[in-house]
Amino acid sequence: MSVAKNLEELRAKVSSYPCTLVAVSKTKPVEMLEEAYKAGVRDFGENKVQELVDKYEQLPKDIQWHMIGHLQRNKVKYITPFVHMIHSVDSARLLKEIEKQARKEERVVDCLLQMHIAEEESKYGLSEEELFEILNGEMLAKARYVRIKGLMGMATFTENEQQIRKEFKSLKRIFEKVKADQQLPQNVEIKELSMGMSGDYQIALEEGSTMLRIGTTIFGERNYN
Ligand SMILES: *Cc1c(COP(=O)(O)O)cnc(C)c1O
Repeated sequence: MSVAKNLEELRAKVSSYPCTLVAVSKTKPVEMLEEAYKAGVRDFGENKVQELVDKYEQLPKDIQWHMIGHLQRNKVKYITPFVHMIHSVDSARLLKEIEKQARKEERVVDCLLQMHIAEEESKYGLSEEELFEILNGEMLAKARYVRIKGLMGMATFTENEQQIRKEFKSLKRIFEKVKADQQLPQNVEIKELSMGMSGDYQIALEEGSTMLRIGTTIFGERNYN
């Protein structure tokens, strides 16, 4: 198994779409990230704060780090100094904490609002109603250090392609609705639609994804032992 080879094959498959590939490197050793880096990858995604910070410290500083996992408010401060984009903003309280910590760093942090599109109960994310509450809320109107760049979502983990497609379509519809909204504050610049993982990225691209978060296809299966 070679990371460079996996990347080459993946890039060939997605090359006709204008999308950013985020290499999801969670649980993988820095040596494998270095291989990907040598093969040209500059966007890496992690889902745990400690691991993200450790890898940031060990790897080249031109990497753009994406936080893609559930983020606890008390850990926001560890990543605001360097994180490129937080994909997993799923509450106004979390957004408020990001604003507070980013202000201390005097740096604007790009965020995606994570939507609940899957059938599964366990997945995090906002409903459409909650999304518009945040977008139209007082907190965001006053915020100076967070910028909302788009939406993120995860489809149900299933073999049923129709189901996955339906969920991505629903996310794309909400994305277009937000994009078309003229009333939103200046710090909402909707451009990115982060959807698609190893198992469903083809469908995600067909349904309008601008950002793929791909781990297994690049780095192989994860071992959680
Ligand atoms: C792990 C993870 C991915 C990548 O999953 P793969 O199936 O390995 O491609 C994408 N998004 C999120 C939020 C993840 O936690």
